[in-house]
Amino acid sequence: MVNHMRHTRGHTRNRRSHHALSAINLTLCSNCGQPNPTHIMCKNCGYFKGKMIIDMAAKIDKKAIKAQTVKGTKETVK
Ligand SMILES: [Zn+2]
Repeated sequence: MVNHMRHTRGHTRNRRSHHALSAINLTLCSNCGQPNPTHIMCKNCGYFKGKMIIDMAAKIDKKAIKAQTVKGTKETVK
């Protein structure tokens, strides 16, 4: 950093006065009641605006099957 690039503490703090983060808005899911960010599908039940977007029950089953299978093969661990 060259000396002529330097500016006052006041200048720096003025600039940084706009850097604050604001808290995200949460709404309660209309299907299960879990708090969620607005305009985003519920991660608990997979509903958005009263419609099912992702079948979370099926997804959980799929994950359980995937956890049991041997990596790289389609065989399941007994
Ligand atoms: Zn939900």
